[in-house]
Amino acid sequence: MTNDDARRLLDDVEAFCQEIRPIEELCYLEHRPNDQIIPLARKYDILGMIVPKEYGGRGADTVTYAKTLARINREGTGVRTFFSGHTSIGEYPILTWGSDLLKQKYLPAACRGDIILAFGLTEPDAGSNPLEMTSTYQRRGDRYVLNGVKYLISNGGIANAVICFAYNSESPRRVSAFVVDTHAPGFVKEDLLAKMGMPTANTAMFEMNQVEVPLDHLLGEEGNGFRIAMGTLVSGRISVAAGCLGVIEDCLAEVVSYATQRQQHGKPIGKHQLVQEHIALIEQHRAAAEAMVLRAARAKDASSADPTNAELARQADLAAAQAKLFASNAAWDAADRAVQVFGGRGWSTLYRPGRHLQDVRVCRIYEGTDEILKLKIAAHVLGGKEWESFK
Ligand SMILES: Cc1cc2nc3c(=O)[nH]c(=O)nc-3n(C[C@H](O)[C@H](O)[C@H](O)COP(=O)(O)OP(=O)(O)OC[C@H]3O[C@@H](n4cnc5c(N)ncnc54)[C@H](O)[C@@H]3O)c2cc1C
Repeated sequence: MTNDDARRLLDDVEAFCQEIRPIEELCYLEHRPNDQIIPLARKYDILGMIVPKEYGGRGADTVTYAKTLARINREGTGVRTFFSGHTSIGEYPILTWGSDLLKQKYLPAACRGDIILAFGLTEPDAGSNPLEMTSTYQRRGDRYVLNGVKYLISNGGIANAVICFAYNSESPRRVSAFVVDTHAPGFVKEDLLAKMGMPTANTAMFEMNQVEVPLDHLLGEEGNGFRIAMGTLVSGRISVAAGCLGVIEDCLAEVVSYATQRQQHGKPIGKHQLVQEHIALIEQHRAAAEAMVLRAARAKDASSADPTNAELARQADLAAAQAKLFASNAAWDAADRAVQVFGGRGWSTLYRPGRHLQDVRVCRIYEGTDEILKLKIAAHVLGGKEWESFK
């Protein structure tokens, strides 16, 4: 992507963020889905940020894309999660492993916002270890037939197509990945509403009951599904880490503004050294998270430029896990400190720190929990594969 293209994309994202802010705040307070994200994202042409121009996207590299997600997440983790679901783990696997036919069928429509995408790996009894999934597929003539339940899926209730993972029912150790249309007969979805945060974002579960999928909706080779899932999560983790950087940036901006205005004991609270400690530590988190996010994004760009290079892929996998683990914990701490600086007002969803605190907690859970990422990092350092330690 050229510098001019990157600048234009960041400007469009900035305009989107300014327009979505009051709408998101109102939806959040009224605890209802923000139905303006897609129309506004369409208006600013940011629904295919990483998709090459030939398929209707903006052709962003990972570094530029990470910057856009940091900016978007300042408006809320729910807003950014929509983009991660649609782009980082929705468009990305189609772009990376899809046939020409699948790319032509889904990417231009996804970039226009005519269709919304989601990624369905987790099941009620298979989260941290997706290999324990029980969804199955079977080839029947010119179709695959899928059965199973997917749980806690971002955009799952609004998506037109989901990247789904299932075992071959006749060869039970082979996981494959499919693009499944959600309007197919037998596909039933249900929104999950009892959430701790992100009330404006869609999270859903769905059941596939004898859902027929055309043979050419297979992603990559049959049996390659686990590799596709893990490869997609590298993209997803960088997007979560970038979003968490945005949370820290927003918390810093909020505390700087509040601490210079709010007076107690005869002076702005920012003049009290214990308040300054919170501000200094949020800034420390910001600087460190930014460095780790950019390092992971650069590693991903280097790996994408040389896709057969296993060492570059390994470095990107490690850097993405490190950035996500660090930034999500740093964002949680930054939001907690921002709530503290705001005092009683902090403990309220009327103000941004309280909303960030509620929402960002999930970033330590989805796309790999803290614990799973620690196992991954340790496996990289010790040698071996992290899922070997599950056994
Ligand atoms: C809002 C939201 C959106 C989501 N979006 C998506 C999505 O779009 N697509 C998707 O596929 N999934 C999605 N998920 C699911 C998410 O990825 C899982 O919740 C996550 O991977 C954890 O799985 P689990 O909830 O089953 O927890 P479990 O796997 O049951 O884990 C419970 C606890 O045990 C720990 N644990 C498990 N195994 C080990 C181990 N070997 N060593 C040490 N500790 C361990 C975990 O770290 C965790 O603390 C979403 C979840 C949420 C909450």
